Amino acid sequence: MNPISALFPKLQTPQKVVITTHQKPDADAMGSSLALSQYLTKKGHEVTVISPTNWAGWVNWMQGTMDVLNYEKQQEKSDAILEKADLLFCLDFNAFHRTKSMADKLANLTCIKVLIDHHQEPDNSSFHFGISDTTKSSTCEMVYDFIKAAGDLVLIDVPISECIYAGLVGDTGSFRFASAHAGVHAIVADLKTRGLDHGKIHEGLYDNFLENRLRFIGHVLLHRMEIFYEYNTALIAIPKSDLLKFQIKTGDTEGLVNYPQSIQGIKMVALVIDRDEERKWSFRSKGSFDCNTFARTYFEGGGHFNAAGGRSGDSLDKTVARFKEVIKTQPSLI
Ligand code: 5GP
Ligand code: MN
Repeated sequence: MNPISALFPKLQTPQKVVITTHQKPDADAMGSSLALSQYLTKKGHEVTVISPTNWAGWVNWMQGTMDVLNYEKQQEKSDAILEKADLLFCLDFNAFHRTKSMADKLANLTCIKVLIDHHQEPDNSSFHFGISDTTKSSTCEMVYDFIKAAGDLVLIDVPISECIYAGLVGDTGSFRFASAHAGVHAIVADLKTRGLDHGKIHEGLYDNFLENRLRFIGHVLLHRMEIFYEYNTALIAIPKSDLLKFQIKTGDTEGLVNYPQSIQGIKMVALVIDRDEERKWSFRSKGSFDCNTFARTYFEGGGHFNAAGGRSGDSLDKTVARFKEVIKTQPSLI
């Protein structure tokens, strides 16, 4: 993988660009894709953003969301655009399998593939150019860096600043995690000078749900949460029947994994949701428990040290039983 700066000469002439990100894009995935899309459009390129799947309603306020293609719903149109692309930008993921049903299509494209990502263990051989940096708070920070390195900060208008800020907020836990280093706050200061109304973004991300979602959280915390004090671990396991009963939509479960972290002494929280095709795990930790290795070792996943995800093809009961066994083997939880 060549350094991303080597791509700048190519971007001097108009290119057909596709930007894609991981399945069920979150604020950082969608924010970085739409910020880059708006910037490259301003530079004269023809840009399409394709999401592998649908996304949460609380990113719909971002400028450009309505033009994003959903690969699961618009495969033919997306394939035609992908086949004509000169450049494919892959944002906020680092291995094609994270794009689900798009994975084979992306792997077989012959265009130039570019990675911008901050997750661990990138599949470097899949990309011609790129930057993979796990010290970065978010892919949005990296898109800001990219625009800065091109000497184009002046092109960051309010809609672009809103998309970038959303990813910074989302991936740093509202500037709480260690990843919110001084440089992140410096970016926020710069975005503010460019007209960003930060309060509006917090409302867009966190005060944008329906009543049923709050009732669902109450139900889940009361009935679906188990605490294993011996292992300083909390588990929430959600059966499909709960999702149906409360009419839960994509994005409604975002943030749920954070609630048990408020219990004194908890070092790790796991959330598993019975999705149609798989059981989807989320892991969060404080301190020395490595969620990335845990997710990779036991649940076909990965991510960051303190936040990772995974999956299982087993039933909910079976994957929960496995979780309860494997936490006993983790010395850093005791
Ligand atoms: P979340 O729990 O919010 O879905 O994901 C937490 C972090 O882990 C995110 O950075 C996400 O990209 C990553 N992640 C989530 N699920 C998976 C997975 O199945 N595989 C890998 N490699 N990373 C994941
Ligand atoms: Mn991210």
